[in-house]
Amino acid sequence: MGRLKHTALRARDSERTATRLGDLLDRDVGIFCWCNRCGHNASLDSARLTVELGPAFPVPEIGARLRCSGCGSKDVATRPDWKSLGQVTRHD
Ligand SMILES: [Zn+2]
Repeated sequence: MGRLKHTALRARDSERTATRLGDLLDRDVGIFCWCNRCGHNASLDSARLTVELGPAFPVPEIGARLRCSGCGSKDVATRPDWKSLGQVTRHD
């Protein structure tokens, strides 16, 4: 297997594992938005976005559809707004 094919497989894998709106809805997690131009940030309701974009929509791509309410820039990043990130390392 050549290196090109290996890279393509990896890219496809990360696409498949991207967090989707439906995943957040199940966990009652919002969408954290960050403006790359002015630093304005906000948390959006995942339920409302799921109605608009559908449960299979990848969370990192939501930013491309948003506009900053602070400066009007469309350079907005989005990620899941996990509430208890500190507990991910806990072992039961
Ligand atoms: Zn902004």
